[in-house]
Amino acid sequence: METIQTATSKGNIVLLIHGGAGNFKESDLSPGQQRVYEKYLHEAVEEGYKILEEGGSSLDAVEAAVKIMEDAPVFNAGKGSVLNKEGHVEMDASIMSGKDLKAGAVAMVRHVKNPISAARMVMEKSNHVLLAGSGADEYARSIGMEMKDESYFITPSSLEQWKKANERVPDPKGIDKHGTVGAVALDLHGNLAAATSTGGILNKLTGRIGDSPIIGAGTYADNNTCAVSATGHGEYFIRLTVARSIAALMEYKKISLELAVNEVIQDRLSKLGGNGGVIAVDKNGNFSIDHNTTGMFRAWKTEKKCEVRFFKE
Ligand code: ASP
Repeated sequence: METIQTATSKGNIVLLIHGGAGNFKESDLSPGQQRVYEKYLHEAVEEGYKILEEGGSSLDAVEAAVKIMEDAPVFNAGKGSVLNKEGHVEMDASIMSGKDLKAGAVAMVRHVKNPISAARMVMEKSNHVLLAGSGADEYARSIGMEMKDESYFITPSSLEQWKKANERVPDPKGIDKHGTVGAVALDLHGNLAAATSTGGILNKLTGRIGDSPIIGAGTYADNNTCAVSATGHGEYFIRLTVARSIAALMEYKKISLELAVNEVIQDRLSKLGGNGGVIAVDKNGNFSIDHNTTGMFRAWKTEKKCEVRFFKE
């Protein structure tokens, strides 16, 4: 668990991102693959941080960072999303503003190039929080968002993964590698935001929706407590309302972010049998990254430093 206490003065800016958690070890990734992940994580964290440095909003920063990872083919979000049982892409995403508890999400979209931006539009331009399926794609198209054919999202490696999964006897415990992406930020004005985007779980049933577009499960932000983005076996994260539970523990029990994250991930999630992790930042800029898997693609940047990590420390 990485827990960093940064300054508590106003005007602190922090950006954290993740590219999924899973039970992978150093030997599972070649040096070349590690360089590729590192490059994209760096790019995403720098882009988001630049916005914060220039006085931009945490919402703009998390959206920008997530978009870069959606466009990168190595993560399970946007281009590179995993395929469902029938070999199709169905993507989920959500975003939340800690200042006013506004939130937006899309689920099961198949054509919008950047699901996180569609989620933001749902939040800002519609009267709803969550749009799903063809209605969500149609909404994105109607407001002029960039749309793509399914072939854009399917990469040689996602196709290969899907073929392999279909040759094997299904693993009753489900997946052990995730690649969802997410970001949380605190801006110069003291506002928190969180964003999460995913292709879901490989070989999922058509119509399955995970935790990522569910406010309170995969994503949550409240200026009074913290901003959280999760990754892992979504069914467990929904059942435990992981993101909101962390904020609620801080709010009602008056405990620190570090303790709240630890209780939800290491205690409740592990006891229930779920795997994954979260990135989280509180209103003072203290942050925590925790996962009960051997690996989690993650990066963060503060005034003091920028770090990129893959494995358990
Ligand atoms: N949480 C995502 C889902 O269940 C998967 C992941 O994080 O990799 O859809």
